[in-house]
Amino acid sequence: MGVGVALNELIERTSDNGIVDPGSLLMQQLDASREGKPQFFERELEGGRILSVRANSIPGGGVITLYKDITERKAFEKRLIEMATRDELTGLINRREFFTLANHEEERAKREGHVVSVMMIDADYFKKINDTYGHAIGDDVLRDRADNCRKIFRKTDVVGRYGGEEFSVILPGVKEEMSKIIAERLHKSVAESIVKSEKGDLTSTIIIGIACAQGRDIRIEEILDRADRSLYTAKAQDRNRAIFDSAA
Ligand code: GH3
Ligand code: MG
Ligand code: MG
Repeated sequence: MGVGVALNELIERTSDNGIVDPGSLLMQQLDASREGKPQFFERELEGGRILSVRANSIPGGGVITLYKDITERKAFEKRLIEMATRDELTGLINRREFFTLANHEEERAKREGHVVSVMMIDADYFKKINDTYGHAIGDDVLRDRADNCRKIFRKTDVVGRYGGEEFSVILPGVKEEMSKIIAERLHKSVAESIVKSEKGDLTSTIIIGIACAQGRDIRIEEILDRADRSLYTAKAQDRNRAIFDSAA
């Protein structure tokens, strides 16, 4: 759609008795102290098109406006951000974005002083699943584990694909007792999940390492390390279990 058509939308949407110059509506938004200097806005139209607007108020009244339809550019930018932050297979955030959000959570926990729990999750015997059922079914299992996570964790938790068959979660405000209950719920959700394959229905298990910390000197990377060590302690015993790091 060209700028002309998009502008028509803007005119139609804002008109109450016929034609209204969209520029005159912008005048109300203009910062009077910036008279003579260009000011920039973005406007989303009802149809979803996005316009960038450059407005220049003229001394003595009036405004010169320049419109540009930037819908495609905006969509492209959004896609780039998605590619940089999402794991394509599972739809969860990727490892890089996980650490970005981990930093935010760390700052917040230092400021507000709340407890933070962390979980490291690893799919059990995953190589065997690939070898037995094929890589595509392995992918289905990973997507299924991501669904288990989406079901069990809250919107305020940070859930990422850490890499391969591993997932990591930050649970702000969740104490030891609660983290164990949540891990149990996750195990139950995984146990009830069935992935269909040509070789029959497939169920599998996960192992969870948990750690938590609180205080002004809290470091999420340090909690992640402890959760990871718990995970390996659990693995040394068997699979399909959760171990809480009680060293803190
Ligand atoms: P353990 O129970 O000790 O965790 O053993 P495991 O087999 O789960 O772990 P291991 O590290 O030996 O193997 C992980 C496998 O995960 C190896 C790798 O090929 C596979 N994998 C990593 N990423 C993907 C993926 O995106 N899709 C599929 N299908 N497999 C993947
Ligand atoms: Mg692993
Ligand atoms: Mg594994």
